[in-house]
Amino acid sequence: MSTDALSIAQDLLRCPSVTPADAGALGVLDKLLTSAGFTVHRVTFSEEGSADIENLYARIGTSAPHICFAGHTDVVPPGEEAAWSHPPFSGDVTDGLLYGRGAVDMKGGIAASVAAVLDYLAANGGQPKGSISFLITGDEEGIAVNGTVKLLQWAAERGEKFDHCIVGEPSNVEEMGDTIKIGRRGSQSGTLVVDGVQGHVAYPHRASNPVPDIATLITALSSDPLDQGNAQFQPSNLEFTSVDVGNTASNVIPAQARARFNIRFNDHHTQASLRDLIDSRVAAAAGNRIRAHVIWEPSNSDSFVTKPGAFTDTVVAAIKDVTGRTPDLNTGGGTSDARFIKNYCPVIEFGLVGQTMHQIDEHTKVADLDKLTQIYHGVLDRYFA
Ligand SMILES: [Zn+2]
Repeated sequence: MSTDALSIAQDLLRCPSVTPADAGALGVLDKLLTSAGFTVHRVTFSEEGSADIENLYARIGTSAPHICFAGHTDVVPPGEEAAWSHPPFSGDVTDGLLYGRGAVDMKGGIAASVAAVLDYLAANGGQPKGSISFLITGDEEGIAVNGTVKLLQWAAERGEKFDHCIVGEPSNVEEMGDTIKIGRRGSQSGTLVVDGVQGHVAYPHRASNPVPDIATLITALSSDPLDQGNAQFQPSNLEFTSVDVGNTASNVIPAQARARFNIRFNDHHTQASLRDLIDSRVAAAAGNRIRAHVIWEPSNSDSFVTKPGAFTDTVVAAIKDVTGRTPDLNTGGGTSDARFIKNYCPVIEFGLVGQTMHQIDEHTKVADLDKLTQIYHGVLDRYFA
């Protein structure tokens, strides 16, 4: 059994684990971790209306501090396979590049963390000076109901306590070591509804046209900033994504207009305070004449941030050691499972370079895999020092 990051990554890439399929991916990790002395649990979660999903939790050591590596072995579909220069589940290496769906998002990251932990254990008599665990789900790229959320609950019920967590998502933008994600913005979608009165275009005084009115409200909501951002976050942002009247006639004033929008928000807001803020801005812009309201969509995506401190310093030092770079501590981009883990312990994301994620010909430099392995190893050395 090869335990270097490249071999592990290839073994994982050769499992076509498109959500919800596991296709043997967790078995690869199970074998490696079991033979290194981990206690490995395979847990399947179900929910009506969604596919059963396999997950894995493995731990070595019983004492604190406890560091957890989290991630997902499922991948997005490869798209048109013929468009790939190397088959998407081949794990081919050409010119120092490892190809495959999941190479950067995030089987490569998982492989580097497993290789680093095995190296670390081999160099330290087979036991950490604390505990190391892996929290790996097969349900991140899909609807994510039978994955990390349930696995964290399951672990908490068993009495598992995490002190820190690293999610191996591809955090770097251009080069290894340029970015650590220390938080994420929250996401909230809604629909702005303006009610008018339907009528004939030739008799507008008998109607009330919601089209210019919704345009007024869209302009108002788009122009007022939600906040100015802060040291960890860019300003929150509201984007309208569509305007719908659904009117097929050219001689009818429609009865209603709707506009959908999404807000990416920082830690100046909670979901509740944000909804209140928008509702009050709609009311103010509508005045007494326009009849408008917002329909809010359910969302489980609040913002979070792991404030820079001892833990981020540890990771920064390990990154600097291997790459010579001082990473940016960033909160941009989309959401990940870190949004669930933050309820249990401080969490950061650091993995490979994300440029080709979800694309045809997804690939990573083999050299980056090695760097990431060294960085994780450096984190462990410092963490348990
Ligand atoms: Zn991912």
